[in-house]
Formats: sequence, structure tokens, C-alpha cells
Amino acid sequence: MATEPFDAIVIGAGSVGNPTAYFLEREGLRTLVLDELASSGQGQNKAAIGGVRATHSDPAKIGLCQQSLEVFSTWKETSGTDIGWKKGGYCFPAFDEKVETTIKGLLPVQKRYHLNIDWLDADGIRAVVPGINEHGLRGGTYSPDDGQVSPLLAAESFTREAIRLGAVYRYHEPVRSLLLRGTSVVGVRTEKGEYRASTVVNASGVRATEVSRMAGLDIPVVPDSHEGGISAPVAPFLDPLVVDLRPGPEGQTINFYFGQDANGQVIFCYTPKVPIVGTDRNSTSEFMPIIAARLVEVIPRLKNLTIRRVWRGLYPMTPDGSPVVGKPPNVEGFVLGVGMCGQGFMLGPGVGRNLASLVARGTPLLDREVFDLLSPARDFFKGKKEALK
Ligand SMILES: Cc1cc2nc3c(=O)[nH]c(=O)nc-3n(C[C@H](O)[C@H](O)[C@H](O)COP(=O)(O)OP(=O)(O)OC[C@H]3O[C@@H](n4cnc5c(N)ncnc54)[C@H](O)[C@@H]3O)c2cc1C
Repeated sequence: MATEPFDAIVIGAGSVGNPTAYFLEREGLRTLVLDELASSGQGQNKAAIGGVRATHSDPAKIGLCQQSLEVFSTWKETSGTDIGWKKGGYCFPAFDEKVETTIKGLLPVQKRYHLNIDWLDADGIRAVVPGINEHGLRGGTYSPDDGQVSPLLAAESFTREAIRLGAVYRYHEPVRSLLLRGTSVVGVRTEKGEYRASTVVNASGVRATEVSRMAGLDIPVVPDSHEGGISAPVAPFLDPLVVDLRPGPEGQTINFYFGQDANGQVIFCYTPKVPIVGTDRNSTSEFMPIIAARLVEVIPRLKNLTIRRVWRGLYPMTPDGSPVVGKPPNVEGFVLGVGMCGQGFMLGPGVGRNLASLVARGTPLLDREVFDLLSPARDFFKGKKEALK
């Protein structure tokens, strides 16, 4: 099969791959996107509930998500397409001392990066989360510049804009191996043919370890399943995404979070206390009873919600809870945008912009020392941590 001359090939049309293709095209690089599934966003992108925040504690995630927020919040003007951007902020309420100490402890670093986030007392939290249970409410943090986007609309729109700029998308085309010349990656081989390019971007989500191994790299990304759900629409009543860091009455969760999207639907999920490693995407019978009790406990009038659908998706987890972004050592022509854990949708545009700049100009947009915190060359098992969702 004859191959067209591409400058870059992106493996994976997901949360990272689609914005990366768009920004590569914006840099003037002719880009091919390959995905084994039937259309864009059909991997884990469509499992995300669409929360987007810059209020992390890690400087690299802060910087990338600040750039993502800029892209998402101006996307309607940039592309003419509404992707459900809602600037409702994030709220972490505290109902006990432990959570209060944790979230207050993050504020100094968040302030150092000029994030718009503050501690509000209980009255302040009641004002941003109307109907919140007042029992034990001590206050909480609120970051009004964060928000939500529809992952389904975003995948579709990034794809359409990338194609408008010249990108070529091929679906139902799994990459089976990489074309190597010495230690350089010079293209990919699929079931349908070979494609050559001077840069190949690995944006393959939960398959990142397998795809990296094709270049002789050992990048630890493990699928870890999480469930989500969405209600029928109700009248708008809730601006922020609310994250409750309590473990729940029987300690089954690390956190639980929910919000109301731009259509009025309440969207929710939790992080199980014991990670469920593997690729099983069948919904479980535990999810709804646990999350329904949590939702009603935090906002009692949610007992009247009608639940429309639930699903189970996969986080591409790394041992230290941080993404793997950049060029690996000792392999030319290969770039990684993988290991996004539970934050790949919000990181996607920021990662895409930085990777496109790295490929086109040899340098990311973030300061090198911050960008390199996510380097594929780091020790993934050093300072292993639990990422706050
Ligand atoms: C319940 C739930 C809620 C979540 N909520 C949020 C949230 O609110 N905010 C947030 O930021 N994140 C959230 N996430 C996490 C988010 O969904 C993921 O981090 C993100 O989608 C990962 O992006 P990715 O581009 O790495 O992978 P994907 O979006 O899965 O894209 C990878 C693509 O690569 C393709 N692929 C893989 N291997 C090959 C191959 N060999 N050849 C060709 N194609 C290949 C796949 O088909 C897939 O389309 C949530 C996840 C779950 C499960």
C-alpha cells in the first residue's frame, strides 16, 4: 500500500491524540492519526465525566491544565463549536478535620502558581453548593476558574478541526509494530500497511506499555477501572464539580465526585479504595448503591434524581500517579503522551500543545524543568503517591 508523506503519526484518537493532532497541524506538520476503534474518542475519552481543573499540587499538571483551560474555554470562539464548556469551578468541601487539613495543605503551592482558589467557611460553601448537607460542614476550597466540558463533543470537535487543517484519520487500523532504523522510530505498521514519518506520537492510553515496548521501552501504564453515571436533566442548580474526599461509611472509596453538566444532567463517579486492575468494563452491582447513598448524603434533595445510565471505564495508571510526557532517552523519532491516570481529558489539550511544540520547535511551551517532571526517563517508583482526583 502506498503511503503518503506524513510529518507525524499519532497512535490513538483519544483525549490526548485528538488535540495533539490538531496542534501538530497548527504547527504546519502533516499528521496521520490511527485508531483501532471505529471513531474518535471511543477509548477512555468517552468514559470521562468532563471535569477540567488547574488546581492540582504538581507544577507540571498545573501548567498543562492551565493551558487546557485556555483551549477549552475559548474553543467556541476558535472553532465555532460548542463543546459544553461550563465555568462552574471545583469545590472540595470538608466535613472532618482530616480533609480540612489535606486541602488547606495544598493551598500554599496552588497560590504559588497563582491559581484562583481559596478556603471558604461553611456559609461560603453553602452558597456555591446549594442544598449541601450542613451536618459537620467545616468549609472547603473553591476554585471558580475550573470547569467542565463534554468529552464526546470535544473529541468530535478536535477531530473535525484537525481534519480541516489537513490531518488524515484512519480508523479500524490498530498499530501492530513500529518501523525502526537503528534506534530511531521511522514509522508504523498496521494490518493494512506501513506509514512513515519522522515523528511517531504514542497516545495509546491504556495500551501505552504495549506500544512503547514496540520501541524497546519499558513504560509502566496499567489499566485500572472506575465507574461513572449520569442522570436525566434537571433545572440548573449546581455550578461546581464537588469532590468529597471522605472514604464513605464503609471505607469503600478514596473520593467521590459529581457535578451538573451544561445540559443539566448530574454526572458522578468515585475512586474505589482498592484499585480494580484490569480491562473489564462491565458495570458492577456495587456502584449505584454506594454512589446513590453518597450523593444523597451530600445533597439530600438528589434523592429525587432519575439515573439514566452508568458505565465503567479505565484509567491509564502510572506507579507515581503522574503522566508520562515527552521524548524518551535513547530512542529518536518517538514521543510519549501517555499514563494520564484519572486526568487525561483535562490534560489533553495542554499535553497536545506542548508535544506539538516539542516536535516542531524542539522545545515545549512549559519551562523545561517543569515539563521534565513528567519525563519518560524518571524513576516511576520513586515517591509513589496517590493522586487527588
Ligand atoms: C469514570 C471515569 C471518569 C473520568 N473522569 C475524568 C474527568 O472528569 N476528567 C479527566 O480529565 N479525566 C477523567 N477520566 C480519565 C480519562 O478518561 C482518561 O485519563 C483519558 O481518557 C485518557 O486519555 P488517553 O488519550 O490517554 O486515552 P484514550 O482516550 O483511551 O485514547 C487512546 C486511544 O488509543 C487507541 N489505541 C490504543 N492502542 C492502539 C493501537 N495499537 N493502534 C491504534 N490505536 C490504538 C484506543 O483505541 C484509544 O482510542 C475519567 C475516567 C473514567 C473511567
